[in-house]
Amino acid sequence: MNFFSGVHCSKCNLAYPGNKPINLCKCGAPLLAQYDLETARNLDKHKIRTMYRSIWDLAPLLPVQDKENMLNLGEGNTPLLIAENLGDLLGLDYLYIKDEALNPTGSFKARGICLAVSKANELGIKDVCIPTAGNAGGALAAYAALAGMTAHVVMPEDTPQPFIDECKLFGADVILIDGVISDCSAYLTTVKEQKGWFDISTLKEPYRLEGKKTMGYELAFQFDWELPDVIIYPLGGGTGLIGMWKAFNEMETMGWIGWERPRMVAVQPEGCAPIVRAFHAGEIIASQWENPSTIALGLRVPQAIGDFLILKIIYESRGAAIAVSDMEIKESLPLLASKEGVLACPEGAATVAAVKKLKQQDLIRAKEKIVLFNTGSIYKYLDLI
Ligand SMILES: *Cc1c(COP(=O)(O)O)cnc(C)c1O
Repeated sequence: MNFFSGVHCSKCNLAYPGNKPINLCKCGAPLLAQYDLETARNLDKHKIRTMYRSIWDLAPLLPVQDKENMLNLGEGNTPLLIAENLGDLLGLDYLYIKDEALNPTGSFKARGICLAVSKANELGIKDVCIPTAGNAGGALAAYAALAGMTAHVVMPEDTPQPFIDECKLFGADVILIDGVISDCSAYLTTVKEQKGWFDISTLKEPYRLEGKKTMGYELAFQFDWELPDVIIYPLGGGTGLIGMWKAFNEMETMGWIGWERPRMVAVQPEGCAPIVRAFHAGEIIASQWENPSTIALGLRVPQAIGDFLILKIIYESRGAAIAVSDMEIKESLPLLASKEGVLACPEGAATVAAVKKLKQQDLIRAKEKIVLFNTGSIYKYLDLI
């Protein structure tokens, strides 16, 4: 049983079939997967929650048809930790951490890449490529290895060595570029067609988002179908935020949850905060950030192709976008570690810095349920440890 019915454009709504490789819409905007959610109302949400072990237990609501193509390294089903000690310190009674560091290859990138590579595999693709700040490359290399595909990973040359070496261990073709992720992306644009490589960039194919949306389903499972009040998310390209929002809407359409939504808060580093700048100016798209610089490499994304989707969700949810400095990130890291036993990546630590600021600014209240996302492991950031 599978309810996937194709993809449609997030901007102009044009529909495409889901049985051929596809990247962006003709109009240049990201494509979103669609499901026959009216029929999916027959799914038993309690049974799915009880049986849930990995993202593939949501297979009826994912775009891969054949079980044989569902690559599995144990992705998803990450713990929701209660951060009581940190909460006491900050005056927050219900503070939680969704710890995505426990995913294969140590980051939540595994969720999205697992889906994208599984679907690419189903469609007969042999060569996949990606521009990455590090974690997406590692995940792509691992899932491509499992599928017997070749991964071409393009990274900034200043990426810490463990991110590069893990890709090589998985057998990937690694290309280093003098620049940031957008320069890696520009390089791929010049070579991918001639080489016949399929592009797995954030939101440039529709299915990574489907992997990330499983975080939204897991929150509903873990919070007993009552979503938290606030979600604090370290934002780069924004797939996690957009994906969770999609999951909430799907669940409401299927009658799994009500109309209430968390306030969605995007956190970016002061050295690369295009969405925060656009939010404060009340804009509906974000202009490119010049000279991006931060220790939180996964957030060094100067321009997001899904900017209009991200901003729409932040406004619609009455959320916020907030910037934190690298210094605040560095201070939050040992704070979280010593209070909660969680050694977060700098991107995850940024949410700790953000929650402090939000409390000081009275944008969150003591009795609200607040979830911080630790999106990855620190263990590839050896210098930072
Ligand atoms: C990629 C990444 C992010 C940003 O995720 P987006 O989906 O691009 O917003 C955050 N944290 C870590 C550890 C990452 O690898």
